[in-house]
Amino acid sequence: MKALIYHGPGQKAWETKDDPTIVEPSDAIVRIDSSTICGTDLHILKGDVPEVQQGTVLGHEAVGTVVETGAAVTTLTEGDRVLVSCITSCGRCRFCKEGHYGLCTGGGGWIFGHLIDGLQAEYARVPFAETSVYKVPETLTDEQVLFLADILPTAYEVGVLNGTAKLCTPARLVAIDLADSRLERAQEFGADVTINNGREDAVAIVNELTHGLGADVAVEAVGVPETFELCTELVRPGGHVANVGVHGHPATLHLETLWIKDVTITTGLVDTFTTPRLMELIAEGRLDPTPFATHRFALGDTLEAYDTFAAAAETDALKVVLEGEQVYRGDGRLPELAAAPA
Ligand SMILES: [Zn+2]
Ligand SMILES: [Zn+2]
Repeated sequence: MKALIYHGPGQKAWETKDDPTIVEPSDAIVRIDSSTICGTDLHILKGDVPEVQQGTVLGHEAVGTVVETGAAVTTLTEGDRVLVSCITSCGRCRFCKEGHYGLCTGGGGWIFGHLIDGLQAEYARVPFAETSVYKVPETLTDEQVLFLADILPTAYEVGVLNGTAKLCTPARLVAIDLADSRLERAQEFGADVTINNGREDAVAIVNELTHGLGADVAVEAVGVPETFELCTELVRPGGHVANVGVHGHPATLHLETLWIKDVTITTGLVDTFTTPRLMELIAEGRLDPTPFATHRFALGDTLEAYDTFAAAAETDALKVVLEGEQVYRGDGRLPELAAAPA
């Protein structure tokens, strides 16, 4: 098969690799029909995630079709369309039994494209298949469910639920970014106020909007020290900083100003316990994640897709979809492959 292989910081290649095979009886082999690239993959390529060994297939988000199952797999069969999530669950350890699959100590957690070969490939071995994948209803296309593999449950669990346990409907949503194009998209997705902190003073504006108090919840969604530190300046006394971003460098915790403010800071890897509910919302037409897909590429053009995704400031990419030969669109439409760079 072909796969996107990590060869150390700054180095990757689309190469031939042996097809994956069943190793444990609880494994399944999945043909990848749709995959995507995550900001985390860019962090790995910067060398921010040193656990990733050279030679590992990257990627941890996919929709695919089961082509083979191990002897212990009874609830999945060849031909099943499944969402392969960034989080794998052994289903047996203490954390899995508590629904904290992200913390799995039985061999699961975030393993794809991290500790084992990932999903930017034509095929993948999926450990603990029965307790880790989600069957996709026929009514839903690959693209409708693809972002359930990571960004939707991550944003919902690690950002919204962690940050707003007591306050689920904020009076105002403020989006802060350096790129105007992303702020425009944030507005389309529901932001009430947008701030370009390259030329505006985010702390001053948020204070003005909140009678000098600051934000109830500041969600850090980038993964660099500056944004984390900004969040701790934006949050009001008694407020909550919910860190979502993947960090590769230390950030300063300004306890000299925070100690007196009763601030709660949470961090977390997604557990994906909300994935079934989110899939239901998509099926019911209450949630439409497809506007996140800004660019589409054939799986074989993954390198080009990386360039487009990594240059988001110029390409306006949010999520790039990698389409295998048998991507399911639900309506028999022909593939719309990569929009040519403008
Ligand atoms: Zn991810
Ligand atoms: Zn576990």
